[in-house]
Amino acid sequence: MYEKEREELAKICHLLYQRNLVSATDGNVSLRVSKEHMLLTPSGKNKGFVEAGDMLVVDFSGNVAEGAGRASKEYPMHRAVYEGRSDVNAVVHTHPVYATAFAMAGKNIPDNYLIETRMMLKKVALAPYATPGTAEMADAIAPYIQEANAVLLQNHGALTWGRDLMDAFNKMEVLESVAKTIIHSAAVGEPVVISRENMDKMKK
Ligand code: 13P
Ligand code: ZN
Repeated sequence: MYEKEREELAKICHLLYQRNLVSATDGNVSLRVSKEHMLLTPSGKNKGFVEAGDMLVVDFSGNVAEGAGRASKEYPMHRAVYEGRSDVNAVVHTHPVYATAFAMAGKNIPDNYLIETRMMLKKVALAPYATPGTAEMADAIAPYIQEANAVLLQNHGALTWGRDLMDAFNKMEVLESVAKTIIHSAAVGEPVVISRENMDKMKK
């Protein structure tokens, strides 16, 4: 079942790997396929090499309904987003170097350095550290699910979500691109912010 969706999920995993948004077996990606099921990447597999047939249909309690192998241990975090946001159908979690550098420093990405932070991501949040693969990961991001579309995970990585896989992927790609640009800009000189007046104009 879900052949087209499996192919799409594998394609997004390969893109994340090709774009250096994920290394080795880091990260996990899911797509909501029914009211209580998601298609989820297998645990501990390199995203550059996963195939459509490796993806698992998992219910919201983490039980594998279809597929062989172990589903990603981060299913509670993915489930929390789907339960909180009916407009969201895809979730991407990776450990991208530059966004994670912010997360490791305990700093959020300012939204007034680059236009795409506001335009593409609306709001980025910084969630406190929680042990990977536990229900605490879901608790850590819970306060930000409604208001944000991207969350930095302290000392861990990043999480984005969107209406479909491409949208969630684009948000992760732009999050990393913004983080990278800010870090490089700070090496050149003090980054200049977009004025409050110009930020307000963008909102409209
Ligand atoms: P999985 O391999 O179980 O998906 O876990 C990877 C990860 O990024 C944990 O946070
Ligand atoms: Zn992780």
